Amino acid sequence: MQEISVHDKIFYPFLSEEEIYKAVKNVAQEVYEKFTDDVPIFVGVLNGVVMFISDFLKHYPGDCELAFVQMQSYQGTSSTGEVKKLMDLPSHLVENRHIIIMEDIVDTGNTLEALYQMLENKNVKSLSIAALLFKPEAYQKELKVDFIGLSIPDKFVVGYGLDYNGLGRNLPSIYQVKE
Ligand code: 5GP
Repeated sequence: MQEISVHDKIFYPFLSEEEIYKAVKNVAQEVYEKFTDDVPIFVGVLNGVVMFISDFLKHYPGDCELAFVQMQSYQGTSSTGEVKKLMDLPSHLVENRHIIIMEDIVDTGNTLEALYQMLENKNVKSLSIAALLFKPEAYQKELKVDFIGLSIPDKFVVGYGLDYNGLGRNLPSIYQVKE
């Protein structure tokens, strides 16, 4: 893999398709072990989660349902700290159900916390969190991320659903910014 440019920045190859495949498969197995006897609802956080959730579902062997929400906290390569809810989830869909929040990446945790609080108020049976990528150095919250694909350094990444100002989501592997 070669370095690439997206808008005004250069990115280095960081995680190969194979590494991502293994991480996604592990997360699906771990989640299944916990929810084998249930029919959980996976709530994907759009737009970044598209590739992760579709690959995750292919590896999830049990009965499950799917829903989406849309949140926005990033502009360019850094978090704004303010989380906007662009698309909500009707309460009757999640009431008394096991919910797993599916995030492409958890950085400061602002988005996750906002979504967690929103779902907590909808009388769910249980609430868990799964993230493909987790940046431990950037994380500022107390909430436990229950299922993590890979922990990565606090550097901006693109590809596999993750964008830089709208571009890069269609890259099949993940690239890290050159600083
Ligand atoms: P947080 O609210 O945890 O700071 O950030 C969560 C959201 O910010 C993610 O769902 C994702 O949309 C975006 N984000 C955080 N880190 C990165 C990154 O390294 N690359 C990209 N492309 N988006 C990121």
